[in-house]
Amino acid sequence: MPIPRWSPSSEITRQERVLLKRLDRTRKLFAFLRQHRLELFDDGFQTELASMYRATGAGKVPVPPALIAMVVLLQAYLGVSDAEAVELCVVDLRWQMVLGCLGAEEPPLSQGAIVDFRARLIAHDMDRRLLERTVELAKRTREFDWRKLPKQLHVAIDSKPLEGAGRVEDTFNLLGHAARKIVTCVAAMLERTVEDLAREIDLPILLGTSVKQALDVQWSDPAHKDAALQDLVAQLDRLERWLGEHLTRQMTRPPLREAVQTLRQLRAQDLEPDPPTGKTRIREGTAPDRRVSVEDADMRHGRKSKTKLFNGFKEHIAMDLDTDLILAGVVLPANRPEEEAIPTLEKDLAHAGVAIGSLYIDRGYIRSPLVERVLADGGQVLCRPYVARNGNLFAKSEFRINLRRGTITCPAGQTQRARLGSVVQFDPATCDRCSLRDRCTDAARGHGRTVSIAPDEPLQQRLQKQAATPLGRFRLRTRSAVEHRLAHVARCQGRRARYRGSRKNVFDLRRTAAVLNLETIQRVADQADLRRAA
Ligand code: SF4
Repeated sequence: MPIPRWSPSSEITRQERVLLKRLDRTRKLFAFLRQHRLELFDDGFQTELASMYRATGAGKVPVPPALIAMVVLLQAYLGVSDAEAVELCVVDLRWQMVLGCLGAEEPPLSQGAIVDFRARLIAHDMDRRLLERTVELAKRTREFDWRKLPKQLHVAIDSKPLEGAGRVEDTFNLLGHAARKIVTCVAAMLERTVEDLAREIDLPILLGTSVKQALDVQWSDPAHKDAALQDLVAQLDRLERWLGEHLTRQMTRPPLREAVQTLRQLRAQDLEPDPPTGKTRIREGTAPDRRVSVEDADMRHGRKSKTKLFNGFKEHIAMDLDTDLILAGVVLPANRPEEEAIPTLEKDLAHAGVAIGSLYIDRGYIRSPLVERVLADGGQVLCRPYVARNGNLFAKSEFRINLRRGTITCPAGQTQRARLGSVVQFDPATCDRCSLRDRCTDAARGHGRTVSIAPDEPLQQRLQKQAATPLGRFRLRTRSAVEHRLAHVARCQGRRARYRGSRKNVFDLRRTAAVLNLETIQRVADQADLRRAA
């Protein structure tokens, strides 16, 4: 069966004219989408969307993929669920106008069609194309005057926290939750109830209203808490033994395999042996890459600042500073370093044919190989340099580093050899005799002042020179546009993730970015109209 095309009329009816007039002040994107829907979803893009269905060979597709794509964009615009989106297709005239079904008494698609379409978009990486498509639309929009823009773009990259959708729990609740997931899975496989199985395996933690209620101890008392932990561990051991005896083969296959692996991962990260007693204790300190939620395997602890923590992800975007358009986006677990976002962003930028002339980043991204590549290609990197402070003592900036000669000279004139990525120690005997010693180091006598030479010291020096000039500081300030853009993403998307897992949240970021780009195109077009009218 051929994949149906979406071909709403380009003519504006009288009812649509009335609606367009009313959309002059608020929710103006509905009007823009009505007027530009056929440009956004032109023949070529509709063919690309249809290929998602052909490739899988799946059965009938009663709804044109482009129409579902438009629903997906409207969903992001208003921040509504799949179920609400289906309802709005019937009860909201603005939705009906954009979708070309004014007056329809039945929705043009089902909730299942949206879920299926989203899965296909993700599987085929077509959400990236959806975002690219908005940039292509901007290029065709006369008001952007794309030919006047530089061939190599001024690209800014930055990130913001995104709270995960999964529940974050302490060790007791995490382990109990993971055990419940296993027993629920087994109950479905064996067509029995969770309570029935919990009694058979002897798992009282699954018979209470919560794990802590079932364990019922005085949690403020360390001895009681320890006894509860031993009880919990014994029940988890019984569950593992029972599975090994009754469902050996099923434990190695989905869906039981994932549930069992989750419990084992949580036990390994949160518990450790207590050598003096031979019992189990809660791990001291936080395990690296600690999983914080049973329902969302990708969520991690992250930091907004030294003191502010959050749980979930970081959203990274790359935007063009000349047009305000978001060019690429990626979501990573919150504990991953910023530079890990660069390969995906770079790949997406290359796919969209973007050449970077200037790269505006913050210090988290400075170690990325992209920085080297931009500089090697004759581009510029704009980033605030590290400022090494040293209390009341001489800062590193008061030492003269000569990279060409490979030397460092202190304020008293003592010179040492300096290699990149090393720590230079000045001669202890000279430092002991030095009249400036009290202002330079608080090391014990017999120890000279030390200075670290960063592996990227030449780049740091370059950045310091840049930040020392008014023009350099002005250019650094232009990076704030990407921070404003991230605030727009947060406003549109909300502070909490709509989906579980990194990939689905990448989809959500890309479609949010697509909506923001469409709003930008509309704003630029409106401003041009006003200028013409003036
Ligand atoms: S204490 Fe050592 S490194 Fe510091 S200024 Fe004196 S001689 Fe130079």
